[in-house]
Amino acid sequence: MLIFFIYGVIMHELAVTEYVFNLVTKQAEANDVDKVEKIHLLIGDQCDYVPEIIEEYLQVMSEGTALEGVKVDAKVKESMVECKDCKAQFTRHEFKDKCPKCGSINLRLNRCTDFIVENIEASYK
Ligand SMILES: [Zn+2]
Repeated sequence: MLIFFIYGVIMHELAVTEYVFNLVTKQAEANDVDKVEKIHLLIGDQCDYVPEIIEEYLQVMSEGTALEGVKVDAKVKESMVECKDCKAQFTRHEFKDKCPKCGSINLRLNRCTDFIVENIEASYK
């Protein structure tokens, strides 16, 4: 059971790293970039991605490419909670078991939808 869980976590970050790698590689090629130095990510706090693991995977994937030795800088974005009754949206930080606007407990926590490559630091030939 534990082994399965760990495997699941690894697949999770691996899939998202492949997404980042492909996206950044395309951008690097389109902009005639020589070396990608740093990738800035914005990750929703409801996603349990570990930036250090993403960076480790990128190091392995990027050997011999423009992304070789790339660093990852990740900022956490606070996730939103939505009140199903009055449709008010507020951050998880403000969330105290009920809607701050109408007092309803009929709430919905938005799922992991925030995973953004904010920008890329790169050097040119
Ligand atoms: Zn409400």
